[in-house]
Amino acid sequence: MPELRQNILTGQWVVVATERAARPAHFFSSPREESLDSKDCPFCPGNEAMTPPEVYALRLAASEADGPGWEVRVVPNKFPAFAEGEEVRDSTAMYPRRGAEGAHEVIIHSPNHFSDISRMDEEGVEKVLRVYKNRYSFQSQKDFVRYVQIIVNHGVESGASIPHSHSQLFALPLVPPLIQEEIAGSLWHQKSRGKCALCAMVEAELEAQERLITKNRHFVAFSPFAARFPFEVWIVPREHRDSFEKMEEEELESMAFILKDVLSRYRERLDGVSYNYFIHTAPCDGSDYSYYHWHLEAFPRVTTPGSFEAGTLMMINITTPEECSDFLSGRGERISFKPGGEIS
Ligand SMILES: [Zn+2]
Ligand SMILES: [Zn+2]
Ligand SMILES: [Zn+2]
Repeated sequence: MPELRQNILTGQWVVVATERAARPAHFFSSPREESLDSKDCPFCPGNEAMTPPEVYALRLAASEADGPGWEVRVVPNKFPAFAEGEEVRDSTAMYPRRGAEGAHEVIIHSPNHFSDISRMDEEGVEKVLRVYKNRYSFQSQKDFVRYVQIIVNHGVESGASIPHSHSQLFALPLVPPLIQEEIAGSLWHQKSRGKCALCAMVEAELEAQERLITKNRHFVAFSPFAARFPFEVWIVPREHRDSFEKMEEEELESMAFILKDVLSRYRERLDGVSYNYFIHTAPCDGSDYSYYHWHLEAFPRVTTPGSFEAGTLMMINITTPEECSDFLSGRGERISFKPGGEIS
């Protein structure tokens, strides 16, 4: 079972999951996803036996579990970073450690090996978002689960080990540091300024337009003022809600449109770049987080953080979010770049 070890200098927890070293290494030999064969892909229809049995799926009528006929399929990660089991608490006087109790699921977006969110139709993206909500509700109801993290790694440079488009869901026994920081910031803003920080940002970005990328009825996409990465985009609901899970059906349809739109801009304007996105939502530990405002953060992999970033946890961004939003919104010039390298 994977375990959590605490750094006693910083208080930070690290997940030690050695089984993950045995993951498939499709990417090490193949430079581009398009060149990969779907025959040996564990996420392709017909290969269902190559994954652990499914825990959930949207299926066509008359299709059977763990066979073809699914539209979105959820399976436990074969190489989990968090797993259910006895909670081990073996904190010696010196080094705190505990079992990485939780869950780690894979949400396969569609049967199509060569698709990704940006290439799927809106209806398909809506289905993926509905499955997010469904699995979020299921995992967040477990007693020991404090936070549910949903992420996507897409493409060679993103950290994805299998090219077939998928999301991962982590049910965690603790609230991650970045969420704790966002909660502290939200609380401070609410108390000192009398307003939710993200509600204030949405209002300011819509007004100024200089970092705005796109918007629709229920969502706004902009590059944040203090973007950590080139072309970083936040997709924020216009309606204040603490949890992703509370999104209504009409908002979900709006979110499918804007998510596909933003990722299509990455693909079209940045030459099929790899990208990451993740959802930040309120913890499910029973406390009141009504002052928190959920959102999605995305960024393409155009640069690789180095020693300064690892050594300080401060990012150096070689672009401004204003330039990036000009470019992504179509107001600016096309930029070419080498994956993992410098922007020119
Ligand atoms: Zn596949
Ligand atoms: Zn808000
Ligand atoms: Zn966030």
